[in-house]
Amino acid sequence: MNRLPCAGVWAFAALFFIAGFELRASAQTLPAHQPVLDLHSMDPGVDPCADFYAYSCGGWIKNNPIPPDQSRWDVYSKMEDANKILLRQILEQASQAKAPDGSVTQKIGDYYAACMNESATDAAGVTPLEPSLHSIEQMQSKDDIAPVIAAMVFDSALFDYNSDQDFKDSSQEIAEVDQSGLGLPDRDYYFNSDAKSAELRNQYIAHVQKMFELLGDKSEAASAEAQTVMRIETALAKGSQTLVERRDPNNVYHKMTIEQLQALSPSFAWKMYFAKAGTPDVQSLNVVNPEFFKAMDAEIKAEDLPAWKTYLRWHLVKANTNYLPSSFVNESFDFYGRKLQGAQQLEPRWKRCVEQVDDNLGEALGQAYAEHAFSPAAKQSAVQMVHQIEDAMQRDIESLSWMSDVTKKQALIKLYAVANKIGYPDKWRDYSALTIERDDGLGNVFRSRDFEFRRQLNKIGKPVDRGEWTMTPPTVNAYYNGQMNDINFPAGILQPPAFDPTSDAAPNYGDTGSTIGHELTHGFDDEGRQFDGQGNLREWWTPADEKQFKERTACVVNQYSQYTAVDNLKVNGELTLGENVADIGGVILAYVAWQQDVKGKNLQPMEGLTPEQRFFVGYAQSWCANMRDESKRMRVTIDPHAPEKYRANGVVSDMPEFQQAFHCKVDAPMVRKNACRVW
Ligand SMILES: [Zn+2]
Repeated sequence: MNRLPCAGVWAFAALFFIAGFELRASAQTLPAHQPVLDLHSMDPGVDPCADFYAYSCGGWIKNNPIPPDQSRWDVYSKMEDANKILLRQILEQASQAKAPDGSVTQKIGDYYAACMNESATDAAGVTPLEPSLHSIEQMQSKDDIAPVIAAMVFDSALFDYNSDQDFKDSSQEIAEVDQSGLGLPDRDYYFNSDAKSAELRNQYIAHVQKMFELLGDKSEAASAEAQTVMRIETALAKGSQTLVERRDPNNVYHKMTIEQLQALSPSFAWKMYFAKAGTPDVQSLNVVNPEFFKAMDAEIKAEDLPAWKTYLRWHLVKANTNYLPSSFVNESFDFYGRKLQGAQQLEPRWKRCVEQVDDNLGEALGQAYAEHAFSPAAKQSAVQMVHQIEDAMQRDIESLSWMSDVTKKQALIKLYAVANKIGYPDKWRDYSALTIERDDGLGNVFRSRDFEFRRQLNKIGKPVDRGEWTMTPPTVNAYYNGQMNDINFPAGILQPPAFDPTSDAAPNYGDTGSTIGHELTHGFDDEGRQFDGQGNLREWWTPADEKQFKERTACVVNQYSQYTAVDNLKVNGELTLGENVADIGGVILAYVAWQQDVKGKNLQPMEGLTPEQRFFVGYAQSWCANMRDESKRMRVTIDPHAPEKYRANGVVSDMPEFQQAFHCKVDAPMVRKNACRVW
């Protein structure tokens, strides 16, 4: 749905997960459930045909200021917050349960208890990093970069190494290396020419310097080291693809042998790297962006050994800040939380520890969460709604005027093959190989990261596990995965006020129905449409239908490119294309499914709104949000989603059903003359 979704981008959020403190016992109670459609969130003084978002969310925006520890605050953040309170209760109970050693309850309880022990973290200082700092210091030549990076494999220094489904044989997992190694959120941050970006680069350099000083370096040396880091990262950024380039799957799939990769980057000892990382038998792999590895090689040659030691020290400390004393945590928050995103204070420690358990033992914590928060009846309602949306998509495809029968047939085959994953996995992840100890918080962190990394690498060369999820059950989000061809709705998002089977149907379809439609439409957006029903990257469109599709998506690019995100920064219509297509398609599908569901029923107005109006207000209220300007600037650069206001107004202004529901005049702002419609 992704307000964050479709995976990837917000992995960045992990960068500013920080420490802080708060040791008082939990006394918080869960907030009362909000209705899916909330009249108090509206501003009836606004004309819905002039600004539907302000009409639907004006009250919410006024009544929900951003808490000091947040950079954005929206309907989903509030759900996340409520989830965290519940998860905290679960974890505190688990930590006091004296559960049998090795049980799921023991693991989540002891992980949480150890994480909450901040004095142990402060007492440890930088000791946990010392073995790695020592390896970096001992490097004798640039040939040692490969083994040292292999030992730092979790830290994304230089590049990322992982497993992935083969784009052209979705039944198999293969190895993959991808661009990475930057300290700023995206390559564009190194080159954007506006004043705010230039200022942010200077603040970043100052931050890197301070972190070196915290490691014990003298101020003058640390200043020079920060310049070195910036120089190397800028060179890596130059070789990196833009987020828009990466939207085309053909741009991120280059399967080659190790020898070919070695020829691209002769200065890096790949065979030694794979052996040290624990995967000596890798013969071929996806080199996501070959140009990056050429740039990396040139940079390895261009910089001397001391410069590389500096770069590696920075990435070591950056990747491990969360587990270091509060001086590091506070400095990291100052840049990544405050300057980059506008948050005013760190989240309390309990929240950060809940997030850590979710990150590292997500399917252990998720079992307890699902038991508490997602009844079989709620699951049944969600499954039923998914089927109704899929039926709506089938009718939609069959009725398209612009698509040939040949391509329609293929599209339907793909639609029928979509796997629906609702709530939580059928089979829980087995954590039995992971030891969690109550008095060893840092050991828990390192063992968990190692466990997850081994789990990923162990997939290489094996068949794909199609039952796997990439979000945990408490997550307030959803995703579509083109290689799996599945839609995934964690229990965390199937909660009030997004989803409530006891609500009247109209806003429930407007909200969660649209989310389901959104994820389903991703299978047919500019990116998803290039994969077939089995998840293979394969052309299944006739050239004429592809041309028709691109004409329609060009309309969407043009529409959203006109919207202003913040200051004078416009929404990037290309970057947000897939999400905007999914937003528009999602609401259309939900509307059709809802109409089918209530066919023949005599629906009456409620609370002064017609059923049709309640559908659209239910949809718009899923996007009620407040956001700091810093966060808006970050999102316009890296988030593939349009700002919330346009996720509401952009969609409804393309829909004649909306104009009818609110009796909008043809020249009203919420009525687009050249309305866009893809699906
Ligand atoms: Zn999405």
